[in-house]
Amino acid sequence: MEPMIVPLLDLKAQLAPLREELLAAMEEVMDSARFIMGEKVAAFEEEAAAYLGVRHAVGVSSGTDALLLALMALEVGPGDAVITSDFSFFATAGVIARVGARPVFVDIEPDSFNLDPARLRKLLESMPEAERRALKAIVPVHLFGQSAAMDAVLDIAAAFDVSVIEDAAQSIGAQYPARHGLRVSGAIGAMGCFSFFPSKNLGAFGDAGMVVTDSDRLAEVLRIKRVHGAKSGYLHETIGGNFRLDALQAAVLSVKLPHLNRWHAERMRNAERYGRLFRERGLTQVTAPPVVYAGKACERPHIFNQYTVRAPERDDLRAFLGERGIGTQVYYPRPFHRQPCFADVPCNPADFPESGRAAGEVLSLPIYSELTEEMQVYVADRIAEFYNR
Ligand SMILES: *Cc1c(COP(=O)(O)O)cnc(C)c1O
Repeated sequence: MEPMIVPLLDLKAQLAPLREELLAAMEEVMDSARFIMGEKVAAFEEEAAAYLGVRHAVGVSSGTDALLLALMALEVGPGDAVITSDFSFFATAGVIARVGARPVFVDIEPDSFNLDPARLRKLLESMPEAERRALKAIVPVHLFGQSAAMDAVLDIAAAFDVSVIEDAAQSIGAQYPARHGLRVSGAIGAMGCFSFFPSKNLGAFGDAGMVVTDSDRLAEVLRIKRVHGAKSGYLHETIGGNFRLDALQAAVLSVKLPHLNRWHAERMRNAERYGRLFRERGLTQVTAPPVVYAGKACERPHIFNQYTVRAPERDDLRAFLGERGIGTQVYYPRPFHRQPCFADVPCNPADFPESGRAAGEVLSLPIYSELTEEMQVYVADRIAEFYNR
């Protein structure tokens, strides 16, 4: 057997064909000496808004800051509570605590890994009135690249009069067959938050993010709070922060955005290929990620920011693959309700059977666009070797 190196992600392979175009865009920024906000940021915001079909896109400094700014725009603060999924990247829950609000965690659906609307409804129905009044927002996460069950989330949010802020950091361009037609994740709730961290499907050359909204009023608040809450001329009617997007990052993102749907398609192709390779090897031990909205007239029901399987003996499998040159990662090894920093968040561990199980079983395999069939065969063969050892 030929040993092979299959990294979890290979950004160099993605950037090589865009090298000249990226260098030219960065050079333009350097020559303009306009590094903060400016034309490049405005241009990228327009392109991103068009891509997502939203009225407003507000470029910000990171996905974390996008979530923080969205909460600040709704004036969420001490005494308030915000519901989110128990199983996500830390930032989703961290920002809730950072604005002084109380995070409330809800378990996930086992197939999509996303917030379970049935549990969300049960939680809200059983909440004492005073607690329910403190509730300001629900933050569903579209984990790994496919949408949460947004129709149900929106119905529940409307019934209990709370806002919905989508954490779409991993799902830019993923479609959702909503009751009222096809939508894209992040463009469904009051605001949608995106990350352009380098490992996301649309990655910058550093930290960057975006908040989108169809509300003119919220867009204005977001833009003001992005620059310390100043509307103009050092007059601060509200408090914001430095949440600006750099011109260099915007320039890079503008070069990459036109390629995004092709990269998504290649990731989807790779996901299908893994499915076939697993079946051909009778690999029933690993559970491939179900594409919940497949065949619902969506071209992009899952954009596979991560290809996350459930695997028995997960940690041993991960070590086995690592020794054979295959990069994998565990997203995420610990649900929020078990994080030491949330030890004072009241919760009953029995309410979280699925996030706990997922944390022990998930393993993300290489899925990036430039991954070759040969590499995927190698990955599938090594997994088969592990379970047949
Ligand atoms: C990446 C990510 C974030 C944070 O984005 P940054 O740009 O890294 O700050 C938030 N939520 C989720 C689900 C993410 O994957």
